[in-house]
Amino acid sequence: MIMGIDSSKISKAAELIANAGCAIALTGAGLSVGSGIPDFRSPGGLWSKYDPEKVASIRALKSDPATVWQFLTEAAQMMRQAQPNDGHKALAELEKTGRIQGVITQNIDGLHQRAGSSNVIEFHGNCSNFFCMECFAPFAADNIKAGCDLPVRCPECSGIIRPDLVFFGEQIPSEIYREAFALTDQSDLIIVVGTSGEVVPASLIAPRIKDAGGKIIEINMAPSAYSAMSDVFIEGAAEQILPAIVQNLI
Ligand SMILES: [Zn+2]
Repeated sequence: MIMGIDSSKISKAAELIANAGCAIALTGAGLSVGSGIPDFRSPGGLWSKYDPEKVASIRALKSDPATVWQFLTEAAQMMRQAQPNDGHKALAELEKTGRIQGVITQNIDGLHQRAGSSNVIEFHGNCSNFFCMECFAPFAADNIKAGCDLPVRCPECSGIIRPDLVFFGEQIPSEIYREAFALTDQSDLIIVVGTSGEVVPASLIAPRIKDAGGKIIEINMAPSAYSAMSDVFIEGAAEQILPAIVQNLI
C-alpha cells in the first residue's frame, strides 16, 4: 500500500493488464519528472523560461541555428545526466514479461531504452541521433564537444546539423506515425502515463483504442483530458504506481 493510493485501483489495473490481448503504454513528460527532467510545459518548466518558437521551432533552426543549438546542448546535457526511474523500469519489466508489446513515447530523453525497453516508438524523435539538414549524412553525437562552435556544421557540406527530433512546426515523420498507429490498432489496452492528452496527434491514440472497444488505464498527477474516458484513473507519481502494479501481477 502506497500512501494515498487506492490499492483497489492498483489491483484493477493489474487485472486489466493480465486480461488484455495486446497492451501498450503511451508516455509523456510526467513520467520523466521523477528522473529530474522538468515537464517543459509546466509552470517553472523550460517553456516558462524559453520561448519554444525561438529555441525549438523549425523556423528558428533555419533562421537562428546558434540559439537553437545553445538550447539543445543544455537540454541534451540535462537528459544525459538523468537516470531512468522506477516507472521506466516497471514498463521495461512489463515488456520483458510479455505483459505489454511496446511503448509509444512523446519524450525525447531516451530513458525508456536505458531502462531496458526494446520496442520504443519515439513519437517526437530523440536528442541522441543527428544528421545534416543539407546532405542528410548521419552525424555522430560524440563529435559534438563542449565549447565547440555553434551551430554544429556538417564536415562534408557545412550544412547545419540537427537532432532527429520533431521541432515545433514540423510534422511527425510518416513512418513513425504509421508504426505508432499500427501498434495502436493491434491493442485492446493502453496504459497512459504522465501525459495529459493535449498534444495532437499523440492525444488521438488512446481514444482510438477506446472507440474500438479497448480499455484505458491512466496514471497522472492530476485529472486530464483522458480521465473521463479512463477505465481506471490512478492519481499519483508513475514511479510509485507502476512498480506497485507490476508487484500485483507476480
Ligand atoms: Zn552535409
